[in-house]
Amino acid sequence: MMFLLFGWGKQTFKDLAERDFDICKFCHKGNLRLREVTTWATLFFIPIIPYKTRYVLSCGNCKAGYEISRELAERMQDKEEEDNFY
Ligand SMILES: [Zn+2]
Repeated sequence: MMFLLFGWGKQTFKDLAERDFDICKFCHKGNLRLREVTTWATLFFIPIIPYKTRYVLSCGNCKAGYEISRELAERMQDKEEEDNFY
């Protein structure tokens, strides 16, 4: 019997910048990190197709996070490159 096992829930996280951006608005202790969250379509539990990418600022302390636009995420990374000139 042949069957295909699809899934949509697999997520991977990638830190886009090494630096911290802001103090967390929820706990006021941790710093926010810019992360890329990719949701994958999986086949037999193997990630095949990245079908959704989100950008979030997440707190290293309380794990709170909120989504930001791709445009804003890219601007924040550009800012980091400018900072490296100092
Ligand atoms: Zn926090």
